[in-house]
Amino acid sequence: MYFYLNCFAGKPIMLREKDFEYIYRNYESTPVRFDCGKLCAPENGGIPYCCDTGWLIPVMYKWEFSYLLKHTDLWVRFKPKTKHEKNIIEETDKNTVFGQCLGHKGCDRKYRSVSCRIFPFEPYLDLEGKFLGMVYSYRLGNKCPLVDKPKLVSKKFISDQTKMWTYIFERDSAERQVYREQSIQVRRYLSRKKKPIYIFTPEGYSRGKYRLR
Ligand code: SF4
Ligand code: SF4
Repeated sequence: MYFYLNCFAGKPIMLREKDFEYIYRNYESTPVRFDCGKLCAPENGGIPYCCDTGWLIPVMYKWEFSYLLKHTDLWVRFKPKTKHEKNIIEETDKNTVFGQCLGHKGCDRKYRSVSCRIFPFEPYLDLEGKFLGMVYSYRLGNKCPLVDKPKLVSKKFISDQTKMWTYIFERDSAERQVYREQSIQVRRYLSRKKKPIYIFTPEGYSRGKYRLR
């Protein structure tokens, strides 16, 4: 399972280092108001699932990675160990970087990547590419105990994420397209599982039919 945050091919990246400085400074809030790593880490040998590259490899924008290298020792490039990992990196757009951090015990939280900040959520768009809100990410299946528990979610987090993705989509149309397509995958997944879709906005959340556009 991997974070695919920015896997478009051959398209220009509009976000630059200064944008990540702005994003990191302004959108720091976490999905819940307690340390959710304590919920899942005991099930995974003491490591929170979303901080374990055996489950998810953080993918970063090229300029995000270069910004991070100038400000923290937290990150290096991920070194693939298996053929599967090598294939994934080779097949992914060269404007993205797969990262490896120092691990949850050495996390420098103000320099966590965008992909770290959003989990277990992702932006949700309709077929026309209109940003509708945030939805759960099912990239870890049912491993993340926060998923499908909407009452736990911090309003500040949703408000911050809504602003952050509005900022990103206004500057990067390719990223809008990535998440438009990812939202189609989410609908397919929920349709197969016959699960409802929760869409979070600063006004609250709605529980809709999985076929919702
Ligand atoms: S977001 Fe989910 S997987 Fe990540 S630390 Fe929190 S509970 Fe664990
Ligand atoms: S940077 Fe922090 S939040 Fe992100 S994967 Fe590493 S330990 Fe987890």
